Amino acid sequence: MKMQNITVLGATGSIGVSTLDVIRRHPDRYRAFALCAHRQVDKLFEQCLEFKPRFAVLRDAALAGDLRQRCQAAGLATEVLHGVDALIELSSLPEVDAVMAAIVGAAGLEPTLAAARAGKKIMLANKEVLVMAGELFMRAVREHGATLLPVDSEHNAIFQALPADFARGLDACGVRRILLTASGGPFRNTPLEALSNVTPEQACAHPNWVMGRKISVDSATMMNKGLEVIEAHWLFAASPASIQVVVHPQSVIHSAVEYADGSVLAQLGNPDMRTPIAYSLAYPERIDAGVEPLDLFKIGRLDFSEPDFQRFRCLQLAYDVLNQGGTASAILNAANEIAVDAFLSRKLPFLGIARLNEAVLNALPAGPEGSLADVLEADANARSLATKMVLEQRFA
Ligand code: NDP
Ligand code: MG
Repeated sequence: MKMQNITVLGATGSIGVSTLDVIRRHPDRYRAFALCAHRQVDKLFEQCLEFKPRFAVLRDAALAGDLRQRCQAAGLATEVLHGVDALIELSSLPEVDAVMAAIVGAAGLEPTLAAARAGKKIMLANKEVLVMAGELFMRAVREHGATLLPVDSEHNAIFQALPADFARGLDACGVRRILLTASGGPFRNTPLEALSNVTPEQACAHPNWVMGRKISVDSATMMNKGLEVIEAHWLFAASPASIQVVVHPQSVIHSAVEYADGSVLAQLGNPDMRTPIAYSLAYPERIDAGVEPLDLFKIGRLDFSEPDFQRFRCLQLAYDVLNQGGTASAILNAANEIAVDAFLSRKLPFLGIARLNEAVLNALPAGPEGSLADVLEADANARSLATKMVLEQRFA
């Protein structure tokens, strides 16, 4: 098998580190070709020492200068670049075989879109790309013959449970519904009154998964599941009505597909992102991911319930923007990024996240998702309005 050159966008994050762990286990198959991060210089330098990538990227020129000096002093041949243009270039260079899209938030859109336009194999964790620009991104994947493999555990499960030719249409394949499982997050059973006082630390303490801070807060509000409904819509051309969220606190069933004959095919596993990462790296083969075997005897039971749309208002907002179409979901995504940031820096209470998202959606009209410029404009407008609302302490 030919050695695969991998560009890891978001190498220093939770998904990036897990990706490098799988790569470390298979040095005969995968080479970390480019490692990219935002500002964690120390962590990126350590990764450079171990993986000796051809390129490393930081967003900021001064930090990149620091990393360049350290790499040179350590005798590494790694070339250090900076800025979004470098991310775009390293997602599309001819030597690159696959791109792990694991930047958090809207910042990942342009490099991931560049990978699609270069016809790469894309392992997609960065769900915000599809939420912001699903139509544009899926079109780029089709037109440039890119291979898109979902890394988000639910979507990876659905991908595994669908027939290989699902692109001809879910109806044609006999699919009735997608059953998108959700843990319900850390506040599934917290009394509503208590939610107004929860802290960032409590929100980030997810019962089953260890993840970055933004997605952890999104899990606590269930905005994450809302973003995943939108993600499933674009990945599998599933109508909003055919996507059923199922609360399943154990996170053992990662999602399932219900067929016309009554069959339900599910994918199960321990909650460890190295499983979907290894699946997407090796597809269509299977490789060791370093994941503990699933012990069903230890798990004992699996529970299911319906989601509570009153408690988790963000989940309802996601269905609403999906039904509305156009740039509505980009507006929601941008408002939510600002809201989560404000919550994490204690400028917005937990329940203010949903209120802020809803207020921004109500204030800004959605337009058609015609071009990248339309999406970026909607994103920028929503960010500035949301920031203004936070400063005015509208939901404090
Ligand atoms: P983290 O916050 O742990 O990591 C984010 C990564 O993106 C870091 O490497 C960070 O660099 C980098 N980054 C942040 N902002 C920028 C920017 N402006 N430009 C370039 N790089 C940037 O996030 P996660 O790994 O948890 O999540 C990544 C994506 O994967 C998200 O979209 C999330 O929704 C999705 N996902 C994550 C799962 C998980 O289990 N963690 C599960 C399913 C999906 P630095 O470290 O230098 O700041
Ligand atoms: Mg998920």
